[in-house]
Formats: sequence, C-alpha cells, structure tokens
Amino acid sequence: MANKFKPNKYKPLKLNELKKFIISKKNLKKLFKNTLDLEVKEVGDGNLNLVFFIENKYNSICLKQPLPYLRVLKDWPLTLKRSYYEYEYFKIHSKHVRNYFPKIYDYDEVLRSITMQKLSPHIIMRQGLIKGIQYTSFAESISTYLAKTLFYTSDLHLKAASKKSLISKFISNTELCKITEDLIFTDPYTANKNNRWTKPYLNKMKKKIENDEKLKIVVSRLKLKFMKNTDALLHGDLHTGSIMVTKNDTKVIDPEFAFYGPMGFDTGALIANLLMSYFSQAGHEKKIGDRKHYKKWLLETIKTIWIEFEKKFLKLWQTQNNGDAYPKVLFNNSKIMIAEKKEYMQNLFEESIMFAGAKIIRRIYGFAHNIDFEWIENTKVRANCEYKASKLAITMLKDTHSLKSISDLIKLVKKNENMKVKL
Ligand code: ADP
Ligand code: MG
Repeated sequence: MANKFKPNKYKPLKLNELKKFIISKKNLKKLFKNTLDLEVKEVGDGNLNLVFFIENKYNSICLKQPLPYLRVLKDWPLTLKRSYYEYEYFKIHSKHVRNYFPKIYDYDEVLRSITMQKLSPHIIMRQGLIKGIQYTSFAESISTYLAKTLFYTSDLHLKAASKKSLISKFISNTELCKITEDLIFTDPYTANKNNRWTKPYLNKMKKKIENDEKLKIVVSRLKLKFMKNTDALLHGDLHTGSIMVTKNDTKVIDPEFAFYGPMGFDTGALIANLLMSYFSQAGHEKKIGDRKHYKKWLLETIKTIWIEFEKKFLKLWQTQNNGDAYPKVLFNNSKIMIAEKKEYMQNLFEESIMFAGAKIIRRIYGFAHNIDFEWIENTKVRANCEYKASKLAITMLKDTHSLKSISDLIKLVKKNENMKVKL
C-alpha cells in the first residue's frame, strides 16, 4: 500500500520509493493538494549526497539524503550523521536568517533525509558567475547573512553556557572537519596522489609550493586555528556552489560541514571563490575584453561584501552584545572598546584573507577543483588564470600584513591580473 513505507533502518531511497515516503509523512503529504500526480526525479550534480525533486502543479520539494560514502570515491566512507549537522545548522540559524535558506520541511531520523523547498528559478551561483550574470543584490544579502550567522552564535552574543551547549552539538562532526583538514591544509602542500593541477604548465609552481617551508608553516598555523577555534557556528563550505541565486534572491544550501570554528573560515571561503571567479573570467571571454565590466562588478562586489559585513557585524555588537565576552560592566561607553572593536575586525580581515588564500591553493593544486577554472578548455589559458590566482593566494598567506584593508587586496588582485605570465 502506498502509505506503508516505514523502514526501520537507513537505506538509500530509490526513485520508486519516494512517493511512498512523501505520502507516509503527514507534514510532507500536506504540501501537495493531490499526491496522485507527483513526479520524482534524481538530480545528482552533488558530490556527496542523493538529491531528488518531487513535484506536481501545486508544489515542488527537494529531498537530500546522505550516502555512507563519498559519491565520487566509493571507497571513501563517510558518516551518515552529516545530514543531522546540516539540519541543525539550518534550524539554529533560522532564528535570524531564515530568509536566506530554503524552507525546511522535514528531517527523517531513520533515512537521514532532509526535505526542503525546491529553489526555483534559482541556479547555483558558480554557474551564473561563469555565464557572466551580475547579481546586484548579492553583496547586500550575503553580508547580512555572514554578520548575523557569525555574530549571533559567538561569545559576543551568547552566554557561555548556551554557546558551549551549541558547541557540543557539533563537536562530533569530526569526519567532515577531517576532510577540510586534509584536503585544504595538508594535501596540496605534499605529493599526495589525489592532487591534480593543470599539467605541465603549473608543475613548477606545484613543486615550489611543496618546497616552501614558510608557506607550510603559515598553512599549518592556519590549520591549528581551524582545529582549535570555536568563534561561531560556521557553514564550513561556503563557496559559490553552496549558494543558489536569482537576480534578487540569495539562498544558502549544503551546510553539512557545519562546526564551531574560526569566523574567517566562512568569510574567507566566500572571498576566495569570488576571487577565483574573477581570475577565471579571461578564460570565459568570447572576445578579448568582453568580461571587463563583469570583472569590475566582481571586485566591487567583494569590496562591498567586506565593508557591509564589517558595518553590520559592528552594529550587532553595539546593540546585541548580551554575551559573556567583554562584560558591559567593564566597558560600557568606554572609548577603549571602539579601538578594541576596530582591532577585532582587523584581525578577522587578516584571518579571512589567509583562509581565502588556502582555499584558492586547494582548488588549483588539490583534490577537488572548481568549474570556474575546469571549464576553461584551453589548458594554457586555464593555467595562466590559475597561476595568477595562486600567486595572489601565496601573498595572501605569506604577506598578509601588507594587506591592511579590502582596498589593498583589490589593488593587488588587479596587479596580479595584469602581470605577464610565462609558462
Ligand atoms: P552535495 O553536498 O551532495 O553537493 P548539495 O546540497 O550541494 O549536495 O546539493 C546538490 C545539488 O542539488 C545542488 O548543487 C543543487 O543543484 C541541487 N539542490 C540542492 N538543494 C536544492 C534545493 N533546495 N532546491 C533546488 N536544488 C537544490
Ligand atoms: Mg555538500
């Protein structure tokens, strides 16, 4: 019978079981006026999970279910509990940023599935950036998103006990954190067999990275920060493939890497991915120079995101500072707090660009690449774009102090874009 679908243990859902699953759950069934004409399909463009769409003329929903292994590498086992962290991240942050998530309808503890609103006509932002589409409301939305998610889960807003209880919820997302620890902070700097890069053009640069002791120290310090800091509840994988957009709407998806970590890891991920989009543009031009305006927009967007993020974060700090950090009894109305906040934001800026640098290196020399570069068919053109991005990334990591502001970073980006590269 259609409504008798109640597995008592986890199994990957099959396409022909989906309708039964939806109908068996009251909260899902009621989303559709009529369940006779439900259409189901699998959309498998993700790396890690099964994703299905279920729709009829009344509604469209999306069901995501983890598999017990990494989809691209079946011999890489991966905990099913990751969907729990994803669901909890959505739930906790929904209090302040629900407009930036798809509506979440259900979490099934047996099948580990999350059922949510199907976003439409949204597309994955990375795809839009490759096409050269400007998202004019994006900077405004994502800066609010970052300021609120990071501030509201930090010690600046939460009492120590509440924050520690949240930390304990995510502390065991160790397998997903380990992926980041290895794939971002370790493997690209070694001769690991999973690494890839655009050969032969970047061979020399890859060797240079492996032999750069200072760079490896910097990245190891960053890894330590990633492992030991518990600033805020992070998305953990906030790249442009985890954001779905239309011209006037921004939605964040896929927070299965969620954990309590250093704030600069989320801000840095975003900055890194916008920078990689910038450097990839030359490879997507149909005529030389036809992405000039687009590139300008990308840099303006990066700048606005940081400036607005800082402004919004500081505003929250001024008005919602209920946490146990910087007790009001010590500093209320004190001028010294103005200077301290400035220094806090400066440190966060530096941390962000360091994490951004590490994120760029891993996408050019590590295991998982991104289509911004990968879709550039001419390998020499691609290597040229990647080389400029990696030079920038190394400066961001090793000469962080030379970049005092977002404007300094933008200046350096332009300089790198115009550099003559001999490969
Ligand atoms: P994975 O971790 O496996 O990459 P994602 O959460 O990124 O999983 O989802 C994979 C893909 O499924 C996304 O790139 C997107 O195309 C699609 N998708 C995921 N969630 C939704 C949604 N709520 N609405 C529409 N499409 C979605
Ligand atoms: Mg994912």
